[in-house]
Amino acid sequence: MTDRQLRQRVLSWYDEHKDDWPWNLTDDPYAIWLSETILQQTRIATGLLYYQKFLDRFPTLASLAAATVDDVLAEWQGLGYYSRARRLHAAAQVMMEQHAGKVPDTLDALRALPGVGPYTASAVGAFAYGIASTAIDGNIHRVLSRYFYVQVDLAKAKERKAMQDLADEIISSDRPGDWNRALMKIGSTICTPKTPRCHHCPLASRCQAYLQQDVMKYPLPKKKVKLRERWFHYLYAMDHQGRVYIQQRGAGDIWEGMYELPLIEATDSEYTPTSLEDWELSHLGRSEAYRPRLSGRDTRVLSHQRLYISYYELTCDEDLRPAMAADVDIDYEQAFKLHSTESGVRAVSSTHLADKPFPVSLRRYIDLQQEQ
Ligand code: SF4
Repeated sequence: MTDRQLRQRVLSWYDEHKDDWPWNLTDDPYAIWLSETILQQTRIATGLLYYQKFLDRFPTLASLAAATVDDVLAEWQGLGYYSRARRLHAAAQVMMEQHAGKVPDTLDALRALPGVGPYTASAVGAFAYGIASTAIDGNIHRVLSRYFYVQVDLAKAKERKAMQDLADEIISSDRPGDWNRALMKIGSTICTPKTPRCHHCPLASRCQAYLQQDVMKYPLPKKKVKLRERWFHYLYAMDHQGRVYIQQRGAGDIWEGMYELPLIEATDSEYTPTSLEDWELSHLGRSEAYRPRLSGRDTRVLSHQRLYISYYELTCDEDLRPAMAADVDIDYEQAFKLHSTESGVRAVSSTHLADKPFPVSLRRYIDLQQEQ
């Protein structure tokens, strides 16, 4: 079988098995770039929800670029990997300023955008502009490792480039988008990690690992990442006027720019906070009279970290008057400034609490508290 015949066989198979996900049915480069960003490390069902939500809220590149980072983070809430949302927003602004408000149509220009790596550049290039470049995601990597019978570590630039060159040798230049989708679909439904169904595979007649009967050794198993363990203790403190204290996370750590409750990060699992002083919040009032009560626990596994989260609650009555919270009837923006403390902790009403982007664990906990 020639390369040409192989391409025909794979594309015919794809024509019979293709999915009608909305991002497969559009040729709008903005919608395609958005879908590729949202779908990274995301299940299809979740991706569908967020894709539609984002297109409803930001129907054009210009509307996304004009939004604030907080607006974008608020829409992204629950999807995780929040740095992706920040880079999505930054890339939209770059495209408005440097590409006349359009998603660029070359691989080099795509790769130069914030948050766009080799995979996304190839995917957007192939799906939106018909560029013959293979978008090597996990599924395609597995399929091609077996097909070419090669072990490649995609984390190493040289090896990734070698795989890209090999992959681009067999891509269909007539239908590169469909070719990519076909390989992804083969990887997700036939050439699966543990139970590949080679006898159903349109690549079988030329697949080297199959012909050598050595499929399961390919590709190399992923190296296990050692997770860094962290212990977070959050305080849900509500003052006598029903406002809750929050702070914004800084740069250089997870959840950059998102909001959270006052936090103590402990160095081990043994630590338990007992008073407002532990959160360095004694300026909020006579803390000796109040003991925060443990009211929830959660564990979150991020790509490189495992977070053990404990939530404490404290409702302050009339006796506990935060020093800076005397004037309650001023507007929100004013209140936000006036109620900031040196530590960055601010008092906000429940209405404004709902507007702010929080990591998903905090959002769930806060919503539960607010419902009570
Ligand atoms: S023949 Fe088997 S191992 Fe080769 S690509 Fe198809 S499913 Fe994967």
